[in-house]
Amino acid sequence: MSDDRAERIAEFIRPLRVKPGSEVRLDRDFDPRYRAGMQKQDGVELLRTGVTLLAEYQERLAAADSHGVVLCLQALDAGGKDGTIRHVMSGVNPQGVRVSSFKVPSAEELDHDYLWRYARRLPERGEIAIFNRSHYEEVLVVRVHPENLVRQKLPAEACGPEVWDQRYRQINEWERYLTDNGFKVVKIFLNLSKEEQRTRFLKRIDLPEKNWKFSAADVRERRRWDDYQVAFSEMLSATSTKWAPWYVVPADRKWFARICAASILAHTLIGIDPRYPDVGKEARKELLSARRDLEREAPEGAPADPYADGARKKRKKKRKKERERD
Ligand code: AMP
Ligand code: MG
Repeated sequence: MSDDRAERIAEFIRPLRVKPGSEVRLDRDFDPRYRAGMQKQDGVELLRTGVTLLAEYQERLAAADSHGVVLCLQALDAGGKDGTIRHVMSGVNPQGVRVSSFKVPSAEELDHDYLWRYARRLPERGEIAIFNRSHYEEVLVVRVHPENLVRQKLPAEACGPEVWDQRYRQINEWERYLTDNGFKVVKIFLNLSKEEQRTRFLKRIDLPEKNWKFSAADVRERRRWDDYQVAFSEMLSATSTKWAPWYVVPADRKWFARICAASILAHTLIGIDPRYPDVGKEARKELLSARRDLEREAPEGAPADPYADGARKKRKKKRKKERERD
């Protein structure tokens, strides 16, 4: 990766980053319609580049087998989580990615500590795990609807008025532990405006093929819009850390949100800088000996090493072309 390209990506996502320790007020600090002066048509090419870059880096991540990435996606309903996952990960080898969606917790999940179900979905080294909703629901929906907290059957000492501050601290510490052990936690909040949510809900109602995406509960949640804005603002203020900062992605324009998400993930992978493992001297010797055996097995008339032959021809052709051009 050229330093220049890496620097441009870092520069692009800087305004989306929540400065650790800062006090966020969503409506004041982040505009859901921001698009960095870009037009939709600029976005197509840029997203394609981003997707290719991610595919390359993901392969290196898998080969290096030392780091993992957890991408947490949070948004209000119709914020575009599903579409972001579909587009951003479209070029990536499915073997290296696992997506987990977190819904209302099951009885078994409620029988454990609140981070248990998220911990079970963490990536292996070499993998990218995507959390479609994440452990942050534990300080969002659970906070806006405290009856969820009651269902968690916590002992009295664990659900006093300081429970949210406790959870922020616990989540920060958990993420620090993961980061220190080679698992990067990337956090994206898709920031949608109330008006854009209304439009998207109407589309889900108007188009039969979108009906399944809409539920009456979505309208009930929309009534709590202001409470969610407060819960999100407090969460962003308390849990954007040096080791796992939050990015607030403007989500009113889907194409722009996708470019942002791809760039944030790319920035993380560039930071990890995974390398293909270097085979040692001994392993190299073994490879060469195996190659000699395979070459000896070449049938009558076939080149000893068709791959090397082909590669040589390709190189020759390329050199000839370059000479002709010069
Ligand atoms: P959806 O993502 O639209 O399929 O909806 C999943 C639902 O599960 C949303 O309404 C979330 O608020 C809800 N949910 C996710 N995590 C939790 C949680 N920890 N406690 C209660 N509800 C949750
Ligand atoms: Mg929903």
